[in-house]
Amino acid sequence: MDKSQVEKLVIIGSGPAGLTAAIYAARGSLNPLVISGREAGGQLVLTTDVDDYPGFEDGIQGPELMDKMRKQAERFGTRFINEDVVSVNLKVRPFEIKTESMILNSNSLILATGASAMWLNLASEQRLRGKGVSACAVCDGFFFKDKNVIVVGGGDTAMREAAYLAKLCKTVTVVHRRDQLRAQAALQQLVKSKQNVNFIWNTIVEEILGQDKQSLSQSDKVTGVKLKNTQSGEISQMDIDGVFIAIGHKPNTDFLTGQVELDEKGYVVVHDETRSSIEGVFVAGDVSDYKYRQAVTAAGAGCKAALDVEEYLENLK
Ligand code: NAP
Repeated sequence: MDKSQVEKLVIIGSGPAGLTAAIYAARGSLNPLVISGREAGGQLVLTTDVDDYPGFEDGIQGPELMDKMRKQAERFGTRFINEDVVSVNLKVRPFEIKTESMILNSNSLILATGASAMWLNLASEQRLRGKGVSACAVCDGFFFKDKNVIVVGGGDTAMREAAYLAKLCKTVTVVHRRDQLRAQAALQQLVKSKQNVNFIWNTIVEEILGQDKQSLSQSDKVTGVKLKNTQSGEISQMDIDGVFIAIGHKPNTDFLTGQVELDEKGYVVVHDETRSSIEGVFVAGDVSDYKYRQAVTAAGAGCKAALDVEEYLENLK
């Protein structure tokens, strides 16, 4: 890559938002360069069956969907750098983007770095992720139809997850570390009105228990949780089929601090659909969206951002 070259458009992130932006920008002759990050493909590569992305009547595996999107972007000439962005300087024109091994210059930028679910950071949680441990009820809830699950957390996300799962699962138990929910009243009410939802207060998950696979055709699976009461210290065990961690998401914006307007949680503040506080810097997907967080909404946002970049560069001429 020629360092002195000024790119028309650099897209940071390669989840549905970044790749859809790339497809539209490439077809619009913007010759986009995607910095895909070390976790290329975003959160979808961490999930298995995706049954709610339109166009795949039998569902599709998350990694396969992202692979298809990437190939589609490549088909129209999108170039990729498989590195993380270390820092950006949005105070200069063209913008400066520093990756692990190079410095790039670009006339426009789309931020599509997404958000990452926060985890409890238990070794057993890591081992059983995708095998009964999930951070997305909409993605994985269906696999727990008529089963017993717990949701960990007491905020809006936890209530949304519990409400969604209550429609599918036999029982949903919300395990919260305090005796009061943080979630908005309406969501609390919604969840508390469900017959099959229970609450366990002042309790944290100490360990997720799993059964090792018995044969090659099986995989490891969650069988229960070890719980600790934060008041009494008492340890108990509970049989369960699935564990949904809903303790918040963290937008991947550390590298943007001081460069672009972020809200108190670190999400990029968006004006007029796709625009950040810096002219020429556009935004798409979960990096600015704490509410919908779906692959299809991120893809739609990526499309909008690319179309707005096209208009922006046209006016820049
Ligand atoms: P949040 O409001 O920060 O809540 C996180 C919850 O997880 C809290 O109840 C917290 O407990 C608990 N928690 C955090 N770390 C934990 C740990 N290590 N172990 C156990 N529990 C832990 O996060 P969120 O619910 O994802 O919401 C984030 C933002 O998105 C909020 O502004 C929210 O309003 C918004 N949101 C809105 C909607 C909507 O439908 N409008 C839906 C989802 C999210 P404590 O209460 O003790 O701190």
